[in-house]
Amino acid sequence: MPPLPPLPIVGRYAPSPSGRQHLGNARTALLAWLHARGAGGRFVLRIEDLDPTRSQAIYERTILDDLRWLGIDWDEGPEVAGPNGPYRQSERTASYAAAMTRLAVYPCGCTRRELRESASAPHGIEPVYPGTCLQRAPATDRMLSTRWRIPEGCASATDSRLGTLAQDTAKDIGDFVLQRGDGAWAYQLAVVVDDAAMGITDVVRGDDLWTSTPRQVWLQRALELSTPRYLHVPLLLGPDGTKLSKRHGAPDVATLREAGVDPTRVVAALARSSGLVAQDCQRVAAVELVGAFDLTRIDAGHHRLEPNSSWLG
Ligand code: GLU
Repeated sequence: MPPLPPLPIVGRYAPSPSGRQHLGNARTALLAWLHARGAGGRFVLRIEDLDPTRSQAIYERTILDDLRWLGIDWDEGPEVAGPNGPYRQSERTASYAAAMTRLAVYPCGCTRRELRESASAPHGIEPVYPGTCLQRAPATDRMLSTRWRIPEGCASATDSRLGTLAQDTAKDIGDFVLQRGDGAWAYQLAVVVDDAAMGITDVVRGDDLWTSTPRQVWLQRALELSTPRYLHVPLLLGPDGTKLSKRHGAPDVATLREAGVDPTRVVAALARSSGLVAQDCQRVAAVELVGAFDLTRIDAGHHRLEPNSSWLG
């Protein structure tokens, strides 16, 4: 039999509409889009609006406008629909509930203070939960969160840039929350369920999420879902090499758009920081960069946003 043709790539960008996007978000979106488009793949936009206390419709609107302005389009997502919608997590909660019925879980009534005081030394991204509510009946006067009784083992994730990250599920991860006491679904569960439901083959996202990946792989395994390829890209830093923040005075994407800045200047600055164009490239459209995505060049990028004066002036 002739070999099957390779499966087409499906990439995605999954922003949380909890504020205006900074240039670092835009750069991650651009890299994820270039990765998919460069391989002739499809691109999905998913709005991760699970936290009702932080998500706002106005920010979703801003994200869509920002992406279009930058020249980033999507085949599936808000405003274009698609076969695997809805593309807003707040409208997909039934699938998270269905997934949770397939996992061993228990209610947890620990207060923040208890969690702080009982937590063992942090190994992973957050303190490892010591299993307090496994041994006691949780208080019933409080809204209970739901934790996954994580099966013991070694959860290992692979990344095209960063190699392998193996975590001991008991020592490094612990029983983590799948649904908060106020009913909000946890990112870790939702992202795994949605990436699978939307047929995502390639997750390109910021490397701040790399340490979360083993737990996502462990959830995929428990739910018998396939594991996408992962590529965690460096975060964009300020001109001084520290985490990009307000202190650096970098305008957010919507501010640039509303001020009538030429988006090709913004894309050029993002592409220079990613090593995808020469340092003297002043203007480039996103579509002209399709084909320029190259991991070695990204690795060699300086990942710093230059001072505003050097790319806005
Ligand atoms: N919604 C997450 C964020 O905005 C990204 C999640 C992901 O790409 O897996 O940081």
